[in-house]
Amino acid sequence: MEHPSPELVQTGPASPTGWSADKSSEMYGINNWGHGYFRVNQNGNVHVTPCGKSTGPSVDLLELTQDLMDRGIRVPIMIRFPDILKARVDLINNCFSKAITEHNYKGQYTGVYPIKVNQQRHLVEELVKHGQGHRMGLEAGSKPELLVVLALMKTQDAVIICNGFKDSEYIETALLSQKLGRHTIIVVDRFEEIHLIVEASKKLGIRPNIGFRVKLNTQGAGKWIDSSGARSKFGLTTVELVEGLEILKSHNMLECLELIHFHIGSQIPIIQNIKSSLKEGVRFFTEVYKQGATNLKFIDVGGGLGVDYDGTGTSDSSTNYSAQEYANDVVSALQTLCDEKGVPHPNIVTESGRFLTAHHSILVFNVTGTNDLLRHEPPRPATKTDHPLLQDLQYIYEKLNPSNINECFNDLQQSKQETLQLFTYGVLGLQQRAWAESMYFAIATKMIKLAKTLEDGEGIVEQLSDELCDTYFCNFSVFQSIPDSWAVGQLFPVMPIHRLNERPVVQATLADLTCDSDGKLEKFIDTETGKTKKTMQVHEIKKSEPYFLGVFLTGAYQEILGDLHNLFGDTDAVHVSVTASGYTLDHYVPGDTVTEVLSYVQYRHHSMVESIRQAAEEAIQRGSLSKQEAKLLIKFYEEGLSGYTYLEDPEQ
Ligand SMILES: *Cc1c(COP(=O)(O)O)cnc(C)c1O
Repeated sequence: MEHPSPELVQTGPASPTGWSADKSSEMYGINNWGHGYFRVNQNGNVHVTPCGKSTGPSVDLLELTQDLMDRGIRVPIMIRFPDILKARVDLINNCFSKAITEHNYKGQYTGVYPIKVNQQRHLVEELVKHGQGHRMGLEAGSKPELLVVLALMKTQDAVIICNGFKDSEYIETALLSQKLGRHTIIVVDRFEEIHLIVEASKKLGIRPNIGFRVKLNTQGAGKWIDSSGARSKFGLTTVELVEGLEILKSHNMLECLELIHFHIGSQIPIIQNIKSSLKEGVRFFTEVYKQGATNLKFIDVGGGLGVDYDGTGTSDSSTNYSAQEYANDVVSALQTLCDEKGVPHPNIVTESGRFLTAHHSILVFNVTGTNDLLRHEPPRPATKTDHPLLQDLQYIYEKLNPSNINECFNDLQQSKQETLQLFTYGVLGLQQRAWAESMYFAIATKMIKLAKTLEDGEGIVEQLSDELCDTYFCNFSVFQSIPDSWAVGQLFPVMPIHRLNERPVVQATLADLTCDSDGKLEKFIDTETGKTKKTMQVHEIKKSEPYFLGVFLTGAYQEILGDLHNLFGDTDAVHVSVTASGYTLDHYVPGDTVTEVLSYVQYRHHSMVESIRQAAEEAIQRGSLSKQEAKLLIKFYEEGLSGYTYLEDPEQ
């Protein structure tokens, strides 16, 4: 009996030659979604250039991560780059000023940041600071958000947009804020709010600045399609709009109406949807103006400006347009339709949040282990005394060749079924099932290798690869750090941040620390086909060397939507400014301790320790626990409570 040659079977590391940092860039698509902020450097590490231009100050992400860990900052780490925020603010403003100049448009551009996208104080402060020169404003979508906005907005006369459900308290606070020198505009999202605004204004003797949000018939597209169209939660129908104008007129308040707003949803992947909603929205503007609301001076086109998360230009997680095209389309639609109706060009407000913040933060985490136990060596050969099923498997392993591969594939699937059945019926024992499983994987491994060399082997490769892929266990929680990946199937770019000069030879899915079977990543962008695939290419783990992966573009929505599933809390976060000579650590925001996370679900540190102490005391009395052991147990317990919710010590 001839034993197959070992070269055919092994899937050990491919030769490191023939691989390069450039090949990694291509494989992970970093130059497609990195937008100049992220690339692979010649050391094979991810490199961050916050200004997005090749000449700007930059930092090696691996070195930065190691430096941070040397200072006691723990993985998973959320690394934020305020300079990227600044670059995004400049980018959108430059796009609009270019479009305005080129079209000779008469109105001005004002960006407004909707803080619901990421309310972290340091981030909002950075945006206010960087936005000052552009007179950038803020948007609040709720009462608590308005209180944040009022405290943080320092720019004189900056626009503050008030959206969301409103009660009189919300409206009165908004009215009073005008006295602080802010240009606060209260947007009527629901019809009843008109009455509340009129009442509050009379009570306080302050003339309001009013906006009307209109419901468009044009649908958005993508994952957030429900926020638009006739069934959307917010906005006035045309009937309500007409009636609303009458109410304002009757209170002599028509000239308080200065803004028309619409929002067709977030992450609009297709520019055609944006264009058609603009047409409809601008028509509302010109019509309302014609109704005598001649003090209208803003059109607020909402958010929706997309981020290219996967670099394909074709998926829901991507965009088929640039920021410049977006700005051009907004300006030209406004110009054309306003000129047509002889209405003065309004100032343009956008509420882009995702576009400004997504790029600025990266989650870096380590891999804590893999389940590559089923390595692909065949077990000891089956003999005549083994169960016939095992002998069949042995036979498949040996006879497999290019001409019978399909037959072998079918036989293999059948043998697998039968093995499982015979185990359940008590015919095969534990050892025999283990042998059959090992042999199954050995055959599958050999079969994939062979199928890859055959022209029509693709189907077999595809079917078997999913079963053979490794799982890399990662020190983070999907639910805490990238909830949209779980909730709406959004893609985020994920890749190793080092060893990119080595060929990544392992196909893996990533599992997080939660015990939830949804806590995993198994949808990745395939840069070759532009479609998604179930596994990503990673490197083999080396003993005693941590392996770091990064999830990129996590700055929008993820932090605040993240939850405490399995009690994994906020990660450590740092704000890093990159300078010509290195970098500075602007802020360190420690992640939640176990005690903090537990307090959200009403456990108190003190009473928990107390109850362990009592249990220990009783055990000492019974003689089942020594005083030494009791001391140790309580020490560990208290340390656990004050510790990080994630796994510590990645070196081990
Ligand atoms: C959420 C939201 C935004 C932000 O949208 P992005 O797509 O993140 O820019 C803007 N305006 C309103 C009314 C929103 O609800």
